[in-house]
Amino acid sequence: MSKRDYYEVLGVSRSATQEEIKKAYRKLARQYHPDVNKNDPNAQQKFAEIAEAYAVLSDPEKRARYDQFGHEDPAQGFGGFQGQAGGPGAGFADFDLGGFGDIFDMFFGGGTRRGPVRGHDLEYEMEISFEEAAFGTNREIQVPRTETCSTCGGSGARPGTKPRVCQACNGTGEQQTVTNTPFGRMINRRPCPVCHGRGQVIDQPCPDCRGQGRRRVRRSVDVKVPPGVDTGTRLRMAGYGEPSPNGGPPGDLFVVIRVQPHEVFEREGTNIYVDVPISFVQAALGDEIEIPTLEGKVKLRIPEGTQTGTTFRLRGKGIPKLGSPLVRGDQHIRVHVVTPTNLTERQKELFRQLAKELGEQTHEQQRTFMERVKDAFLG
Ligand SMILES: [Zn+2]
Ligand SMILES: [Zn+2]
Repeated sequence: MSKRDYYEVLGVSRSATQEEIKKAYRKLARQYHPDVNKNDPNAQQKFAEIAEAYAVLSDPEKRARYDQFGHEDPAQGFGGFQGQAGGPGAGFADFDLGGFGDIFDMFFGGGTRRGPVRGHDLEYEMEISFEEAAFGTNREIQVPRTETCSTCGGSGARPGTKPRVCQACNGTGEQQTVTNTPFGRMINRRPCPVCHGRGQVIDQPCPDCRGQGRRRVRRSVDVKVPPGVDTGTRLRMAGYGEPSPNGGPPGDLFVVIRVQPHEVFEREGTNIYVDVPISFVQAALGDEIEIPTLEGKVKLRIPEGTQTGTTFRLRGKGIPKLGSPLVRGDQHIRVHVVTPTNLTERQKELFRQLAKELGEQTHEQQRTFMERVKDAFLG
């Protein structure tokens, strides 16, 4: 594929001024920017072509070489703009930073090269009680986050002073070295060592942020915990994360829930389980017992002859469903019969009498059980 002439790409004459070149580029870039022109499948390629043309023609030095050598410039001999031949940071490999950086400045109005980035997300672990998880709660939490320093407004300079343009790099933040090699001129770019790439130097740092322009603060946030959360639930609070370093949207705050275990209740999804001991006599004769629920005590009828391990269900006494709190799970009550211990001699005598009374019945149970065991072995 033969390369189009850069002047032709931008639609300007060979004698165009820098201003005319910039104007033509902005107009075309806006027209072909892939984010804007989604319908044209060639937009991206066209946009890259425009950016490449602009990267050369907007740089007087490169433009002069292009006027002299055209696309056959010996300095671009190792694959031109994509070239890695000169090693890291060498050659013209950084053209898209200039070209695309400019276009992003244009679209987002930022003073940065890569366009606005979103602030970081924050995570905060919150421990709440079993009941709070069930019915929801409001909590004020202290979230440490980074904020723009209000003393200096983010400049990092002591109030009343201003950062000054770095003289070492003239505010570009880059240090450029040009080396002549047998293959042509190699241009090396690296961050300016004086200003560390910022392009600015602060002589008198702001005392509150020590020149950072940002500082750590504790910010109180009201968290509305909805009913039905469980351990591991992540509540997203949009926009409560770290601010963007360059004018983009802030990150989000994620509140991660941990529910404290309850003394008697166990939870599985929206259902609650509770183990209730009943006496030997209550199990045999039946009784009305008190059961704890999330909303206080209720009475439960234990029928005559209840076996250990029997489960009763209280419908709708469980945990509200997260997101639809009117829907609730159930409470399950497992009873277990407690065998009496430490009996007095008189109590033992009563049991013996009872046993005699129940005699045939219990022996019959034993007999059928042992027969089942025998069948299982012979089976
Ligand atoms: Zn400050
Ligand atoms: Zn500098």
